[in-house]
Amino acid sequence: PYINVDPGTMNPFQHGEVYVTNDGAETDLDLGHYERFTHVKMTRDNNLTTGQIYEAVINKERRGDYLGATVQVIPHITNEIKNRIYMVAKEDIDVLITEIGGTVGDIESLPFLEAIRQFALEQEPHNTLYIHLTLVPYIKGAGELKTKPTQHSVKDLREIGIQPDILICRTEHTLTNEIRQKIALFTNVVLRAVIEAIDVDTIYEIPLIFHQQKLDNIIIDYLRLGDSNELDLTKWKDLVDKIKNPKHKVKIAICGKYIELRDAYKSIDEAFIHSGIANDTYIEKIWVDAEQVELKERKVFPEDIDGIMVCPGFGNRGIAGKLLAVQYAREKQIPFFGLCLGLQCAVIELARNVCKLENANSREFDERTPHPVIDFLPGQAQIKNKGGTMRLGSYACTIKENTLAYKAYKQIKIFERHRHRYEINNEYIELLTEAGLKISGINETLNLIEIIELENHPWFLAVQFHPEFNSHPYNAHPLFRDFVKAALKFKEDRELELFK
Ligand code: GLN
Repeated sequence: PYINVDPGTMNPFQHGEVYVTNDGAETDLDLGHYERFTHVKMTRDNNLTTGQIYEAVINKERRGDYLGATVQVIPHITNEIKNRIYMVAKEDIDVLITEIGGTVGDIESLPFLEAIRQFALEQEPHNTLYIHLTLVPYIKGAGELKTKPTQHSVKDLREIGIQPDILICRTEHTLTNEIRQKIALFTNVVLRAVIEAIDVDTIYEIPLIFHQQKLDNIIIDYLRLGDSNELDLTKWKDLVDKIKNPKHKVKIAICGKYIELRDAYKSIDEAFIHSGIANDTYIEKIWVDAEQVELKERKVFPEDIDGIMVCPGFGNRGIAGKLLAVQYAREKQIPFFGLCLGLQCAVIELARNVCKLENANSREFDERTPHPVIDFLPGQAQIKNKGGTMRLGSYACTIKENTLAYKAYKQIKIFERHRHRYEINNEYIELLTEAGLKISGINETLNLIEIIELENHPWFLAVQFHPEFNSHPYNAHPLFRDFVKAALKFKEDRELELFK
């Protein structure tokens, strides 16, 4: 419901991670969850904001499309929302999930709720189903769960003409039968459709707890989608078992600057869980504040660290710390994985400390640097508007054989998603290569470097793209998977060394 056209211009502290789709839309992180939990690839049509809706309606009004009508929230804004929903309901789609963010009662979400009320009215019976997510808070002092917030948000929904068919109740403690009955009675929802969503250790457990309560059967039966007795979640159960009972353990330091807000690195967090499944390993993540590295030098890294990652990011804050993190990994031969800004930091570090290019930098942090080893993308220097103008979305990358990248992907042509304005400056390639840089992936059309590695280092790899957006619980991203594998090997060697 927010007015920004997309979250691309928002601070991660405000909004969490910006999720990038294959077609280059900057969207809410929820779309990442939909990609990870289903087989669907999202596009820019799958995310809409108040900003986009108003932009479209105002453009139509300026063109004169409304033929003299007074343009209003109902029907013009609501029609535009409905059109956007119909737009993704293509012929080959069996089920369309429409999620409305925010809280019932918010002024901003009203037009969206009105639109889905109208939407159901336009459909055959049993073709739409309303699921309402509510909170059942636990009052510690009284040792009591409270149903009032649920009662009230459903009351608000019913006032605007929406009767939920299913309630999903977020809770810290089990809902007693009495509480379920109370909720059902006051909200006019059948008892078996009052579903408990208790806090779990991993979000991948959620489908299992819903399955226990037959939520999937209720939905399939209601929408008449087929025989709900055929559900088989064995494969998913195995996956959750792998997450909860891993054989090995590694410790990985993740260096970023939004570490107080874990949602800012949501997809990275998830990609590590997937690579944990693939390696039968628990990954203990040590979130390291880049500014702390700068203050305390390398003392922030525990002695027994098995891998270091440098996160994506924007702006100068925290860069000095990230450079120290790269140097530490390079000199101590600790497995290193750099993402986007992480690659740019790896190049700056090498340029300064090995090539001895004094004050080498990215044009982003120092416009007058004598050695812009990271510079504007061709054509980017003139761009004034910040929103939606970076190099965005999926680009091809050609991988060189005999590299760590090839070992991981096992193919020459790959596609990965980008979100950045700056690139490695090709003028410095010769110098950097002499210093040990190995180019392992390039975009041939644009002649840009996409993946780098280091000679004389067991596992040092950095990418200009965002592999974290392409990881799936059944199919961990190959680079995350191999990074964790390298960390495991590093740990094993370190422990052998101790025994000697
Ligand atoms: N700030 C850098 C750029 O714009 C890196 C962006 C990122 O890490 N996503 O190129």
